[in-house]
Amino acid sequence: MSRAGSVKRLYRWVTRVSGRMLGAGGILAYHGIGRVRFAPGMHVQEEVFRQQIAELQRRFRFIALGDLVERMEGGESIDGYLALTFDDAYVGVLRYAAPFLVDRGIPATVFVTAEASESQAPFWWDSLELVREGGPAGSVARLAAELGVLALEEHPDLYHERLRRAVLERWAGQGERVVELLGSPPATRFGDDWRAAGPEELERLEALPGMQFAGHTLTHRSLAHLSAEEQEREIQEGQAWLERRFSKVVPWLGYPYGLYTEDTVRAAGVAGIRYSFAIEPYRPARPDLPAAVPRLCMTENTDSSAVEGRLSALHRIVKRRVRCP
Ligand SMILES: [Zn+2]
Repeated sequence: MSRAGSVKRLYRWVTRVSGRMLGAGGILAYHGIGRVRFAPGMHVQEEVFRQQIAELQRRFRFIALGDLVERMEGGESIDGYLALTFDDAYVGVLRYAAPFLVDRGIPATVFVTAEASESQAPFWWDSLELVREGGPAGSVARLAAELGVLALEEHPDLYHERLRRAVLERWAGQGERVVELLGSPPATRFGDDWRAAGPEELERLEALPGMQFAGHTLTHRSLAHLSAEEQEREIQEGQAWLERRFSKVVPWLGYPYGLYTEDTVRAAGVAGIRYSFAIEPYRPARPDLPAAVPRLCMTENTDSSAVEGRLSALHRIVKRRVRCP
């Protein structure tokens, strides 16, 4: 093993032990749950999800997100506690995660994007996964040209990452054009677990004990790339849509892509948002902006035995930020 590899292993061991001995706790952020493996850097297969949660439940107590945040706010220890969240309200959460969680008495908060639920169209980042498979080549080239990204077919992962970043930066995360050009995400070959739950499906989810909804904006554009007025509209209208249709809705916001600016914090305040959530398990990327509550991004590859380490106080001090889609 290389020297860097050994240092990394040692560091993991130290944070894990410190988490076990001194305590660890926090908020977990999941995205889609599906029957087959798809985009493992973001989504989690049903079986793996069950294993992760079952293992974590042996070592942590899952409590409602609001209770955990109140503990943090009140300066109480969150050691030994976890709260569970799902971003984007994928239909797989209703199909696979929720029944399992209800059985185990685990509450969860689901961050819902209004237009995604209404349209149930694929999310652009899921369609973009096709780039990793090298196709459809002509359409990918066309997308790259429109985004001003140089073709990089021989390095599909890097190509994918550059295109993803360009959609965020040039189109403010408005990616309908990606879906238009590339079509449905590769996982749809195995079913439709990777679309947003429609309003009726959300009604069924809401009826389950322990489930509640929070805002994830109107269209899932990147707030950090919008004007202050557009940000207010995104937040307010997304929240209003939820409150019109459902009753278990809390005035909290998950920042799409975890991105935000000072204007976002202000806009959330104007919209009556009480807590905002980024995807930064440790020190926030913007420590000058206090409004984002950190979360740990859970993926197919997350080793649940490492969660203590990653949510330990020691790691919170050392690590600045981790990327999550
Ligand atoms: Zn999202």
